[in-house]
Amino acid sequence: MSSVQKGKINVQTENIFPIIKKFLYSEHEIFLRELIANAVDATTKLKGLASLGEVKGELGQLQIEVKLDKKKKTLTVSDRGIGMTAEEVDKYINQIAFSSAEEFISKFKGKSEAEASQLIGHFGLGFYSSFMVADKVEIHTLSYREGAEPVIWECDGSPDYTMKKGSRTERGTDIVLHINKDNEEFLEEYRVLELLRKYCRFLPVEIIFGTEKVREKVEGEKDKDGNDVYKEVEKPRIINNTRPLWTRKPVDLSDEDYKNFYRELYPYTFDEPLFWIHLNVDYPFTLTGILYFPKIRRDRVEVQKEKIQLYCNQVYVTDNVEGIVPEFLTLLHGVIDSPDIPLNVSRSYLQSDPQVKKISGHITKKVADKLEELFKNNREDFEKKWDDIKVFIQYGMISEQKFYERAEKFYLFRDIDSKYYTFEEYRRLIKENQTDKDKQLVYLYASDPEGQHTFIQAAREKGYNVLLMDGILDNHFINHIETKFDKSRFVRVDADVIDKLIPKEENTISKLSDSQKESLKKLFEELVDKVTFSIEFENLSETDLPVMITRPEYMRRMKDMSALGGSMSYMDNLPDHLNLVINANHPLVFTLAEEQDENRRKSLASQLKDLALLQQGMLKGQALTEFVKRSVNFIS
Ligand code: ADP
Repeated sequence: MSSVQKGKINVQTENIFPIIKKFLYSEHEIFLRELIANAVDATTKLKGLASLGEVKGELGQLQIEVKLDKKKKTLTVSDRGIGMTAEEVDKYINQIAFSSAEEFISKFKGKSEAEASQLIGHFGLGFYSSFMVADKVEIHTLSYREGAEPVIWECDGSPDYTMKKGSRTERGTDIVLHINKDNEEFLEEYRVLELLRKYCRFLPVEIIFGTEKVREKVEGEKDKDGNDVYKEVEKPRIINNTRPLWTRKPVDLSDEDYKNFYRELYPYTFDEPLFWIHLNVDYPFTLTGILYFPKIRRDRVEVQKEKIQLYCNQVYVTDNVEGIVPEFLTLLHGVIDSPDIPLNVSRSYLQSDPQVKKISGHITKKVADKLEELFKNNREDFEKKWDDIKVFIQYGMISEQKFYERAEKFYLFRDIDSKYYTFEEYRRLIKENQTDKDKQLVYLYASDPEGQHTFIQAAREKGYNVLLMDGILDNHFINHIETKFDKSRFVRVDADVIDKLIPKEENTISKLSDSQKESLKKLFEELVDKVTFSIEFENLSETDLPVMITRPEYMRRMKDMSALGGSMSYMDNLPDHLNLVINANHPLVFTLAEEQDENRRKSLASQLKDLALLQQGMLKGQALTEFVKRSVNFIS
């Protein structure tokens, strides 16, 4: 190049700069990621060429450096990569760089600003995103090619640029941004450091930013007690770990390595991961990564989200993978890296990308593979971990049919004695004894073993098994599997009296006459709130309790679901619905029916009703006080 070349950047449609400045405002910070990604590319290419013997001379230290100059108000990104010749600057910067931006402009016409700012996210602006934060940008570059001349390119945010011969002697590129008034935050060390740590933490080329003090052992020196001597030295601050664990081969890694990397990713998480999956796919797309199964606290599903980070060739893209991986996988932690995940696009675009969809299906499959393998290889250990992964698996089974089909082989029911069964094992266990007269298999469960103790006891005496279902998703899960299981239903132990939980054949013998029932019904109706209670008679055995309170399954489920904050909030004020069940065959009930003394009738009925309430933990306050008094009277 003999003299200064001036020209207009090749924008056919109109001036792109106002648009860049106006519409990319929400994500100004990504300019740094774009520039560093270019520097990494240039460095990686140089290494590639060098390995083919196409680069002459020493490669030198192939680091990338970010520098701030507060006086000159510049931010500089320097690399020692392949550099560019004048022809290349012309071709890549002056001409090509706008192709995608121009596509944007043509689509942008006639759209509202809000739509436009959505749209621009679909188009990568790469190098030109630096004009979001800079009034003027300079490129100082020298190509690796033999005989190449250094070039300086400058542009002040109008389509006019200048290009002239530079003076640099070192191969590589400096991009100098003259930061504009509105973006001076990017001249602050802490801000830039924060961005570098966010976007560059695992880049494959070392990134240097400023210096840091480190304590270093002085070799060969000891103090008078024979201890090692340390001194503080100022060293270049290296931002990144260039070989993060997911880029390495699983066979070379120990459990300790995985746990250490987990701590590196989440320094503020103290629990150890339960286990992990090292993803390593190269067909039909490239995908690497490590997914960790965290301990999921029973009561805190929400808090766990946003712990998966998405990378594209070790460049950080986002930690919001919603819509990219299936919802239930967002409970996992870790990293996913794929060059097939487009970098410069908006979230809505990512979510509709067919490649991204395939990746998501694949990850689901891998997760199921891992769980199945753990189940098959070490059932005992799997059972130990079960309570911690149950919510995750339930979530997956409810929300992803494909995952359900895999998980039905390793999902574990836990009964109240803490024994674990697969679906199949459990079906076999209860088939004989818990099939009702309509050939329906009845699964009994308890959500509160203490509170439902009497009912559980009654079920045990019948030889029934009772499942423990006390997790936050159990209600949803029961609803879900009920639709999958053939000829089966789930009933909580306190939903009805034992003989009616699993009705076998009708017991029609009742000691009470119809008129006796009628008058007993009236008597009890006066003692309880009619909105809440229905009075029912059952022909139970003499050894069952005289009066019991049960919670009909259907109404209770509705209430439980609404309490979980589902869409049925109109049910929030739904009163409890309970049955007061009178055992028509109990001697006491018979005595009560025969009793002529009105006062005694009333207090005996109250006593029976209160006993039933007490057994459900529902007798409180004044009612309890009266019950105690009455009991004392009965005894004396
Ligand atoms: P993209 O990186 O998506 O291709 P950019 O606008 O960021 O788009 O960059 C355009 C081109 O300019 C790059 O493809 C590359 O050829 C060249 N380039 C940009 N930065 C550098 C750099 N630091 N070293 C060498 N070449 C670069």
